[in-house]
Amino acid sequence: MGSWHCPNIECANHGLLKRGDKCPQCGTEAKEFGWRDLAKLIGEKRDFEKHGKVVTKEILKPEEEERRILFTADMTDEEIRADILRELENIASEDKAFGRSRMLSILGGGSDTLVASMLKLVADQNKVIIRQNELLYRALTKKTP
Ligand SMILES: [Zn+2]
Repeated sequence: MGSWHCPNIECANHGLLKRGDKCPQCGTEAKEFGWRDLAKLIGEKRDFEKHGKVVTKEILKPEEEERRILFTADMTDEEIRADILRELENIASEDKAFGRSRMLSILGGGSDTLVASMLKLVADQNKVIIRQNELLYRALTKKTP
């Protein structure tokens, strides 16, 4: 079961619509999106809003690409651990925000914020898992004296 949104990348509106609705901003007919496609759509709309185009992986500048890397080879284990702790704190506060927006959406507020904070929560959790994997990998490949 998906949700209905404006599919027009050039339109900033990614709010929730109903089947058969026209986007109030650009008039495009609403399309049904699953979770994954909705995340992609919102990303593309944000890209277009910020850069006037969809920033796909191929046209990312090297320095932008670098910012996406969660750790570098010269980081110490402690630095990675510190990042994991920071991320966990993020998740904890995001979790609270998630609870708040779930309340709001039950009360008839924006389920849009609910989707956004859920997506962020999932992304943050992934970052922790990726960093923890790096620590595990380092531990396993460390040469024993
Ligand atoms: Zn629109």
